[in-house]
Amino acid sequence: MQVSSLPTKPLRIAAIIVAAGRGSRVGGHLPKQYREIGGETVLRRTARAFCSHSAISETRIVIHPDDHDLYDKACTGIANLGPAVHGGATRQSSVHAGLEALARHEPPDIVLIHDAARPFVSSDLIDRAIFAAWQHGAAIPGIPLVDSIARVDHAMVMEQPVDRNVLRAAQTPQSFRFDLILSAHRRADPDAAMTDDAAVARAAGHAVVFFTGQIDNMKLTTEADYEQAERRYQSLYETRIGQGYDVHAFAPGDHIWLGGVKIPHDHGILAHSDGDVALHAVTDAILGALADGDIGTHFPPSDMQWKGASSDRFVAHALELMHQRGGRLVHLDLTIVCEAPKIGPHREAIRQRIAEIAGLALNRVSIKATTSEKMGFTGRREGIAALALATLSLPPMEES
Ligand code: MG
Repeated sequence: MQVSSLPTKPLRIAAIIVAAGRGSRVGGHLPKQYREIGGETVLRRTARAFCSHSAISETRIVIHPDDHDLYDKACTGIANLGPAVHGGATRQSSVHAGLEALARHEPPDIVLIHDAARPFVSSDLIDRAIFAAWQHGAAIPGIPLVDSIARVDHAMVMEQPVDRNVLRAAQTPQSFRFDLILSAHRRADPDAAMTDDAAVARAAGHAVVFFTGQIDNMKLTTEADYEQAERRYQSLYETRIGQGYDVHAFAPGDHIWLGGVKIPHDHGILAHSDGDVALHAVTDAILGALADGDIGTHFPPSDMQWKGASSDRFVAHALELMHQRGGRLVHLDLTIVCEAPKIGPHREAIRQRIAEIAGLALNRVSIKATTSEKMGFTGRREGIAALALATLSLPPMEES
């Protein structure tokens, strides 16, 4: 459903995300919307779903006044996000505050109101919410119940079954024509503490129509919900492979550094740093998988601080960038190309040192060596080359 196909001038559509709750139902001290799943806060994931939706021009998040630091940290850098709004003591008063904030300048035609604790809301569900609000004025996503439903008495004895076909489980985003829900909130009894906006609209006499919800649009409430959500994000991790290639020329000297190991040789290496082609190739392979430049971008040869630098620092920096994105290094595969020195006697030492530098188990590091059959610059013993492949596992990232 394309919103642009609606038979009218372009609609102004806003979203309110309700994040003012203190979340006492879940263990831990953090309000639940600020907990992380898959390396990102629940609130950031939810906010991004709305802020990145092309039909929504303004998104406001209603927060608890004590949570400003948490909010700033969670939502920094999200495009199209308006300033936070301070909520009240109840969900109803928080939504009302959000609506009044939207009303203060260029009020929208339609507003979607969503729980921060539902980070899996899809773009399709947002489309359906917008369309339903336009059609009906007040709408709510619902899903049919799969399990049989029955009443029980106080002793947990089953009473008559309930026809599940006439029941729906309610979700968010609930969607409304803005003027309708704003006036419903202004007229609502502030002490009624209504649990959702459909109830507020109904109390003001409006029909609220169900539209098709999203089965996996779960509300994170219990510890088990968080565990399930974490597993879900883990299953979304993507595998990325980066390649790296490096060459250095031999120069007068009596040793080279290779894979963090000092190897005696009848030549040294001509380089700004310690000239460790293996670690340089590994660094570039990790940066490549991150699509984040190369070793020269991060450590310009013109910068004197890298003169003679031990190259494990470059690998450490690339790994730090990876960790910042919540990623994990899975495997390194290196090929070293030279006629001399002979790599065989040093292979296990190099492998162990690279495993140590990269924080990998030994069986996740492969070191291979070859000559180039006396052809080319390596064949003429003018220098040494290394090729590396790095396999990374990365959480889903914001597209940019
Ligand atoms: Mg190099």
